Amino acid sequence: RAERTPLMAGNWKMNLDHREAVHLVQKLAWILQDKKHDFDAVEVVVLPSFTNIRSVQTLIDGDRLRIRHGAQDLSPHDKGAYTGDVSGAMLAKLGCSYVVVGHSERRQHHREDDTIVNAKLQAALRHGIRPILCVGEGLDVRKEGRHVEYTVGQVQAALDGVKAEQMSDVVIAYEPVWAIGTGEVATPDDAQEVCAAIRKVVGDRFGDDVARGVRVLYGGSVKASNVAGIMAKPDVDGALVGGASLDPEEFAGICRYY
Ligand code: PEP
Repeated sequence: RAERTPLMAGNWKMNLDHREAVHLVQKLAWILQDKKHDFDAVEVVVLPSFTNIRSVQTLIDGDRLRIRHGAQDLSPHDKGAYTGDVSGAMLAKLGCSYVVVGHSERRQHHREDDTIVNAKLQAALRHGIRPILCVGEGLDVRKEGRHVEYTVGQVQAALDGVKAEQMSDVVIAYEPVWAIGTGEVATPDDAQEVCAAIRKVVGDRFGDDVARGVRVLYGGSVKASNVAGIMAKPDVDGALVGGASLDPEEFAGICRYY
């Protein structure tokens, strides 16, 4: 883990208006400063909805906050007749460092399959934005005991055509669907089992150096009270946090887990 900087990313989902978004970042920065958070030791990222990115960017740049921001989705295309879509080029202009691709809510509600997720991941890389690739099994797959092979299969499909030198920009988040927004957190051992398998498949494909450098996050009902146990596992390099990232005290507690 020594060579990987832990990453705590707050996925706000479809919540907050622009004033609430700015308020949340201000409070978060304030609390983290108070807790003497070491931003070099743990990277902090917020992922607002598209309509709030500009306000968050202005605040972060204006106050030189060491929090990074990103988006929750992007188009696989760079420009053109794609009504309602937002391109990687647009997000890059708004200073986005990260973008989520393949979140289970998009796979479910927008029927995004592995091919689309792969195209989105490639689009992010084209525009210098780090994709946070979400993978993870549903309850049925977990009950059948196929969670490792299922999740690893999603990783392989999403990384199709990606080159080894691009992998330093890729973050992978293991998010078991049954643990997202349910309060049902995977045990640290569950998280470790799949995160280690993800790192192994990255190693098989791109070599050990790439595998050692890639950050693998856990996501699913992470809170300040359960993050330390998860972060104690050697192959877990951070968390993708939904609900708890909307509460600045709680999210700051997650970021300051160490
Ligand atoms: C998520 O949406 O990525 C997530 C992990 O949500 P929650 O923390 O609310 O389970």
